[in-house]
Formats: sequence, C-alpha cells, structure tokens
Amino acid sequence: MELTRLKGIGQAQAAKFASLGIQRVEDLLFHLPLRYEDRTRLYPLDKLVFGQPAMVEGRVLRRYTTNTRRPILVCEITDGNATLALKFFRFYRSQSIKMQPGTLIRAYGEVRPGMGMPEMLHPEYQHIGQRPPPLANYLTPVYPKTDGLSQKAVQRAVSQAMDCLQQGRLVLTDYLQQAEVLPADMPDLLTALNGIHRPPADTDITTLLSATHPHRQRLVLEEIIAHVLAMKKLRRTVQSRQAPVLHLPESDWQAFQQRLGFSLTAAQQRVIAEVRADLARNVPMQRLVQGDVGSGKTVVAAAAMMTAQAAGKQAALMAPTELLAEQHAASLTQWFAPEDVVFLSSGLNAAQRRTAMARIAAGVPLVVGTHALFQDAVQFSDLVLVVIDEQHRFGVHQRLALRQKGPHGEHSHMAHQLIMTATPIPRTLAQTAYANLDVSVIDELPPGRQPVTTLVLSNEKMPLVAERIRAACARGEQAYWVCTLIDESELMRARAASETAEQLARQFPDLRIGLVHGRMKSEEKNAVMRQFKAGQTDLLVATTVIEVGVDVPNASLMVIENAERLGLSQLHQLRGRVGRGNRHSHCVLLYQSPLGATAKKRLETLRRTHDGFEIARVDLQIRGPGEVLGTRQKGALQFRVADVQRDQTALQQATLLAPKLLQKSPELADKLIARWLPRQDELANA
Ligand code: ADP
Ligand code: MG
Repeated sequence: MELTRLKGIGQAQAAKFASLGIQRVEDLLFHLPLRYEDRTRLYPLDKLVFGQPAMVEGRVLRRYTTNTRRPILVCEITDGNATLALKFFRFYRSQSIKMQPGTLIRAYGEVRPGMGMPEMLHPEYQHIGQRPPPLANYLTPVYPKTDGLSQKAVQRAVSQAMDCLQQGRLVLTDYLQQAEVLPADMPDLLTALNGIHRPPADTDITTLLSATHPHRQRLVLEEIIAHVLAMKKLRRTVQSRQAPVLHLPESDWQAFQQRLGFSLTAAQQRVIAEVRADLARNVPMQRLVQGDVGSGKTVVAAAAMMTAQAAGKQAALMAPTELLAEQHAASLTQWFAPEDVVFLSSGLNAAQRRTAMARIAAGVPLVVGTHALFQDAVQFSDLVLVVIDEQHRFGVHQRLALRQKGPHGEHSHMAHQLIMTATPIPRTLAQTAYANLDVSVIDELPPGRQPVTTLVLSNEKMPLVAERIRAACARGEQAYWVCTLIDESELMRARAASETAEQLARQFPDLRIGLVHGRMKSEEKNAVMRQFKAGQTDLLVATTVIEVGVDVPNASLMVIENAERLGLSQLHQLRGRVGRGNRHSHCVLLYQSPLGATAKKRLETLRRTHDGFEIARVDLQIRGPGEVLGTRQKGALQFRVADVQRDQTALQQATLLAPKLLQKSPELADKLIARWLPRQDELANA
C-alpha cells in the first residue's frame, strides 16, 4: 500500500519516510518505537516524581516574565493540591498573554526540582477549554525520525497504518502461523504489532522495550527467517543455471604440487578437494573460502584456476588492491607458464592495457587484476571461473559485474564463483549472511608458524622501538613501519610516510629503507616490494596499502603508528604480514594517549589473541555486522528489527524454521521475503 494513501503524506513527506527505509504502509508497522510516553493519565501535582516525565493539568495561578537579561516566561499552575512552574526560555508574547490566570492548561514534560516548587522546562502544553480532550488510551510510542519529519508526523503515520490494519484495509497475514512454524510461546503477528504500537496503559514499559520481549522477538524471528529464505532462494536461482563441468587431470595436479616447493596442509587439501568437486558439477559453484591471514588461500585459488585452464577455458582472479593483484600475478607466473598469465589494472598505461585486453579477448587462461577487470571494455573469450580475493573489500556491484562477463550467449549459463575472505565469520552470522554460499574453512596454518608477540606501547616509546628495529635489522631481520592517517587524502598519507622514512633514514644511516604508498606508480611500488622481498632493503616504511595479502616471509617485525586509529580487523590483517616465516615475530602497536575505551579494547584484544574468529567476534560487538562483513552499502544485513549480534537465539531458531516453512509452502516463503525485503532483487546477486 502506497504511503501517500495516508492522510497528510504527500510526495515530499513520502520521500522523508523513504530515507528511514519506509516505502509502504506495511513498512511503518515495522518501524519500532525507541521509547514510550505515558499520556494515559494525569498526575496530581503533589504526586510528581523528580526526573520523570508526567502529564499534568492545572489552572494558571499567575504568570510573569523574569527581569533577567534574557527574560524567562514562568507560568505557575495548580490543581488544588500543589503548584508547578512551567518555564520557557524562548517564547512569544502571545503565549504569555494567553496564559490568563484561571485558564486550564494540560502539560507534558519532565519534572525537576525548582525554586519553592517543582518545575518543567519547555513542556509541551495546550490550553483546554470547558470540555477537556480525552486522554490517550495507549502509551504513546516515540519513534526514530529524520530531519524534516516531526515526531508527530511519524506517530500519526504509524497510527494510521495500525488503523488500516485494524479496519481490514491493510491485510497482514501471519505467514509463520499459517505455515504452522510459529513457536508456541510466541504471539501472533497482530498481537505483537498491537502490543508494540499500542500498549495498554498498565504495560511495564521497561520490559516492553527490552529486546527479549516476546512482541519484539516475534518480529525479529520473522525478519531473520525472511532473510534466510531470501538467501536460500538466491542460491536456488543460481543452482538452476548451468556451468561447464571442469575436471583437473590428476597428473596436472601432482605436477603442480611438485612445483610449489612446499606441501599443502591438510586443510588446504580438503578445501581444494571441495572446490574441485564443485567445479566438476554442471551447476555454478558458489563457495566461500574462509581462512585466516597467512593460511594459504592463494594456492586454493590457483588450483581452481588451473582446473579451468586444463579445460581450455579462462579463469579470472580479482584482488582489491593493485599491490595484491600484482603479487598474485607474480605467484601465478611462478607456478604456471608466464605466457598463460595476464595482469590488468588501472595502473597500466594505455598501451599495456590494450595488450592485456587483447590477450584476454584472445583467451589467455589465467587473468589477474583489480576491479579494472570488470570494466565494460574488457571482453573475455571463455570465462568459466571467477575468483574474488578478500571479497569484503568489494562492493556488490563490482562482483556482479565480473560475474556477468561469464559464458555469454546462453543466458542459462553462468561462471563458477569462488570467494575468498580472511574475515572469519561467526557461524550464526554465516548462516544468515551467506546462506546462499557453501563455506569451506582453512582452519590450519602452514607448519612452523609461530604466534606473533604483540606489544602495545605509547607513542612516547617510539625512540626505543626504533632502536630495537635497528638492532633487529642489523641481525638480518626485516621490518615494516606502518604509518597511519585516517580520513586524510592519499596524498597526505603518502607525505606522512615519506617524512617518517626520511626521519628514520637520518636517524639510522646504515639501514636500507624502502618506501611504499598509494601515490606511487605501479612499477615503482613493484620495484620497492621486489627489493624488500629479495632482502635488499631492511625496513619498509608503508601506508596501509600493505594491509592485504602482501607476503614477505622474512619480515619478522612490524611497527604500527597510531594504531588506535585503525579498526580491529584492519590491525589483524596488518599484523598478518609478519609471522609468515619460521622466525619468531613481533608487532608493536604504538598509540597516542589518552586512549579511548573502544580503542583500548581493540588493542587489548589484539595483544591477547591471534585467533581471527575471536577477533571477529569482538569486532562484531564493537562495530556491528554490517561493517564487519563490509555489507553496509548493499543492505544485505540491514535488518529493521533484528540485530544478529543480540538476537542469537532467534538466529538459531530461524535457521531451523526457515527450511520448514519453505517445505510447507514456497509461496508463503516468497510472500514473507517480499514483506521484509521488498527490494531483494538488488541484493539477490550479492
Ligand atoms: P593468505 O592469502 O591466506 O593470507 P597466502 O596464500 O598469501 O595466505 O599464503 C601465505 C604464505 O604461506 C605464502 O608465502 C605462501 O606461499 C605460503 N604457504 C601457503 N601454503 C603453504 C604451505 N602449505 N606450507 C608452507 N607455506 C605455505
Ligand atoms: Mg591472500
């Protein structure tokens, strides 16, 4: 039902509501109150409680304006039992004139102790005549609102929506009940909505507002079920498409392992086997590979790509940063014939890009690049596999665009998709957010890795730290020095890093120092990284461009300046750059005092643990799921009433109930999805 069908809502108002995510009358019903006001009864003036809001009524005793520099309007009212002062710091003269002694006033506001009598500052009030208007029948809900939309307007709109519901002009079927999956201890939908938007006067507000209240939990459960169903549907849609069957000949696979120079961990073997099994089916693979930093995901990508190559087809690997894409290209050239690999990024010059694109169009089997890969001009000859590394760094449109470059011609065909992430996703969250994907976990690090010792020190200790770096480098170790500047331009960051590099060079003239930042040309960056990798520089001063994927096993020390400015996952990623070899590594987190509570918690967590899952759990607590999954922009996890962190019980229930509902009636499932995710087509390809 269109919002504009309601009284008082025109196009302009509707647009304001839209910014709250409210498009339809139905949506108003799921716009839950933040708190309630009790306007159902009048408090006698001698029964007022300081600090609490109250609705009162009384006759004006006297009113005056103070003689202070900024006059205050004071209006004293009485109900025969006691008096109360209503105070206004901003007022019109007409207001004061209307407050004739003897007139009856009804006011609502918070009661405070005043001079000689209790008072209310800027209460809402109205003059009431001979026949006082009736009091509210229900507690008055107070809703989240937005600029340009008054609380009154939101209240009126929701109230009208409730009226529509009650009068049957709007039908809201209880699908859970209809499908007989509603848990016995939960109210039906209408009871829940009524209880939330129109609670009777004697309701205990605190209990009603708590997230665990059955009325709220009822909506939470329904919403999560809708999400799970949406993801399942999305999965089915993809499963109904066809993908080429790809087999990797065993001899190729053995030869590849020989070339690697290390033996795969059991976890890598297992995950690669899962990927190969997926590729051997004629439906598109939709697999997410989770593995902590350094767990060796690149080899998994390579194995999958090799399978496409063996079938005479193309695979593309997309990385979020230029540096990482280059590094992947380097790994692939090492593991495969260099002429089979092509690299494409926006950092290439026009001629290089033309060549790369021509080779892609001509069918080079292994393509690596940044988001430049999905530009319209890039035409693949026979793309059958898309691998996305560090997926959380891409927007949904970018991923989608690349997938659309898959097998053309027949619409029913689709490329296989492999998604890799170092962000460990707690199980319950994965069951909703990624219910459309199969998940493989590389839960083992290559042998010989030692945990990184993490130190948290104040910036004042910087000279000491620098000295330790020098000593370590003198012993043949290598180190990173990470400069952080948040919310500044790439230029500013580059400048900060350059200055640090110069300063360190002055301080330690015998150290060989490299510098890498986002403003450098791709070849420059590459050269610096190559030197560092080859051990020709001792210390690499860098911006956070080295965050993802950079792999230099000999580096065993990392200093992160102003670590308090970075997020938990980012710090974990950065720290993952050391401890990749066999040497015992250190990571020093320098912070600027004083440290805020959240920053302190972040740094403490890092010092305490290396467990990516534990870190993700804390991160989830601090930042919420949208940020952790990088899905904020796509809205996949923009719940209206649920909170995946808080509503763990409902999440578990939902993963059980969703399949039941689907089995009962796919039609009801579709309706439920449409209710909660009206624009699910947008997320449908996430
Ligand atoms: P991730 O992308 O998961 O962070 P990488 O794929 O970059 O990790 O691998 C990290 C490092 O570990 C690389 O130097 C890689 O060559 C190495 N590596 C991967 N698997 C193994 C293994 N099974 N044994 C030894 N080293 C490995
Ligand atoms: Mg990686």
